[in-house]
Amino acid sequence: MAHCILRIAIDTPLNSLFDYGWPHEEGVPPAVGQLALVNFGRREVVGLIVEIAQETEVPADKLKNAIAVRSQLSPLSPQWLALAGFAADYYQRPLGEVALPGVPKNLRVSTTVALDRALKKMAKLPPPGDPAPVGMPPLNDEQGEAADAIGGAQGFTPLLLYGVTGSGKTEVYLQACAQVLARDPQAQILILVPEINLTPQLEGNIRARFPGLMLATLHSSLSEGERMLHWLAAHQGQARIVLGTRLAILASLPHLQLIVIDEEHDPSYKQQEGLRYSARDLAVWRARQLGIPIVLGSATPSLESWHHAFTGRYRKLELRERAVRDAVLPSVRLLDMERDKPKDGLTGGLLAALRLRLERGEQSLLFLNRRGYAPVITCEACGWISNCTRCTSFMVLHKPEHRLRCHHCSLELRIPRHCPTCGNVDLQPLGRGTQRFEEGLSAMFPDARILRIDADSTRKKGSAQEAFDTVHRGEVDILIGTQMVAKGHDFKKLTLVGILNPDTALFSQDYRASERLFAQLMQVAGRAGRAGLASEVLIQTRYAQHPLYAAVVRHDYDRFAMNLLEERHQAALPPYMYQALLRAEAPELATAIAFLEEARDMLPTDVVTINDPIPMTMTRVYNVDRAQLLVESPSRPALQAFLKEWLSLLRALKSRVRWSLEVDPLDI
Ligand code: ADP
Ligand code: ZN
Ligand code: ZN
Repeated sequence: MAHCILRIAIDTPLNSLFDYGWPHEEGVPPAVGQLALVNFGRREVVGLIVEIAQETEVPADKLKNAIAVRSQLSPLSPQWLALAGFAADYYQRPLGEVALPGVPKNLRVSTTVALDRALKKMAKLPPPGDPAPVGMPPLNDEQGEAADAIGGAQGFTPLLLYGVTGSGKTEVYLQACAQVLARDPQAQILILVPEINLTPQLEGNIRARFPGLMLATLHSSLSEGERMLHWLAAHQGQARIVLGTRLAILASLPHLQLIVIDEEHDPSYKQQEGLRYSARDLAVWRARQLGIPIVLGSATPSLESWHHAFTGRYRKLELRERAVRDAVLPSVRLLDMERDKPKDGLTGGLLAALRLRLERGEQSLLFLNRRGYAPVITCEACGWISNCTRCTSFMVLHKPEHRLRCHHCSLELRIPRHCPTCGNVDLQPLGRGTQRFEEGLSAMFPDARILRIDADSTRKKGSAQEAFDTVHRGEVDILIGTQMVAKGHDFKKLTLVGILNPDTALFSQDYRASERLFAQLMQVAGRAGRAGLASEVLIQTRYAQHPLYAAVVRHDYDRFAMNLLEERHQAALPPYMYQALLRAEAPELATAIAFLEEARDMLPTDVVTINDPIPMTMTRVYNVDRAQLLVESPSRPALQAFLKEWLSLLRALKSRVRWSLEVDPLDI
């Protein structure tokens, strides 16, 4: 007979918990929040104890006993379990699928060798050190007010730190952290950044400021061994500051007192596969649950957060000026490509500005969100074009790698010597990516040190960091890159930003495209002139009259955001509407659509609008056709209640069509 029943969450797509017996009379009894090793199917897996019960509906002869409980590890707190529970509920996924990936892999294996070794190592660490900060620069008035507002906030307090690029938001975070750490000898702080490439810079700042404290980082490029050590340091309260990317939102932090979300508007906070959660939204929930302050920082807040600040749910803190003395925001100018015809993609105006920087020994950054050499190659004789055979997309020319590549299914081909349909040997690249600009610039400025930073140039581990270091050391004259270089970096010698081809995003079907483009332009523009050198931003465009560019020229986020919110209100779009997206994929589009039509008609409702299924804009990826169905409601609780019931019906269908649901989708 079992002594007690362990109800265990296991990482499976099945929407249920599983009961196991625990027959041992002796020893410390298991506790909720502990990890346990169990037999599941034919495997041994580690699950999470979420309840300890006396009875089970599993018949006695079917009930298996748990193999072992990881009693050397203190249990995850009820608050942490509640966070995982909320995420599972809100995003409509099973608890195990949410909670267990939040725990390092090395803890989810059948042996405890790695865990025991890590715990031994941890026990030898010096006790949590002195929280006293060193080298704190005096803050300006606005910074000081913001730091005090954050550091002194009591209870759940969401604060929107709206500060222009270079206004010294980092310094505000650090000094607010210092206040929190000084007040409570156990306090822990979680700081999230959107992009892994931004962690080294901030990590350096934090270590320099708090040399006596333990800092743990959590992001995807840690080895499993490192991840476990860092996770344990947070879980055991030794790490006082945890710095990470979105996945760190699920870190176990028993004494969490403050959360900082830097660049809160960044779409990278949204996970785009599996559990499609928003780390920013979960962070706000976590702060409310714990009754602690949370800071959302940005020069271009998301419209969701801006709306909350506007309606008074978030407190707005504003930094209007750049922090470094004499540093002013760069002047922004449009280069009209209709008048100043570009040569090799570069207008005369931009070339002149580049030349001037080279003469002065200052750095330039050219921004283009398109990697590769050319987005497509074509045969002018017969009209053949390099389509991907598996996707609704083109094969992109990667010249240095001598390949055509599909960026969606990773199909790779050698560059054809002649046209596959008519045999013409003169195949032409159409359009320009970063590689082609790099080539053109090298020809035009043979003596300049030119560096390209994009996903292709930084494939090797550590190479991105190396590239950024080269720029910081001043060993680069012209940097050309994708959004990787646009965010957060504090390049001191940069005085020119050229934006090469932003126009395509103006006419996107995605209603969020203009919000994103604006944020991106302001971000990349914000890399210029941070150390007090006069600087400018040049935008090459064929639509010089477009109001979005006018707002960028004026650095006028306020008015731009107000107008966009007004438009969203008129059109009944988020943040005035709550949405969820059901996606289906099948070898034939008709199958996916038929499934979605069935889903559409399943659960009649008056409070939720169920739209008709439509093919996704990029319909086919890797030989699979994809379609989607949007459901929406002005009431979040109504939408949540509907989704719960709807999903249980959908799961019961046992359809062979692959489907998934995303709550609060970003791309629709
Ligand atoms: P943001 O994140 O707001 O774009 P940063 O935090 O990167 O800006 O700060 C921009 C620059 O200003 C950095 O070089 C930083 O060291 C400097 N800085 C910040 N606060 C101050 C201050 N109070 N006095 C002098 N320099 C400052
Ligand atoms: Zn041809
Ligand atoms: Zn493809």
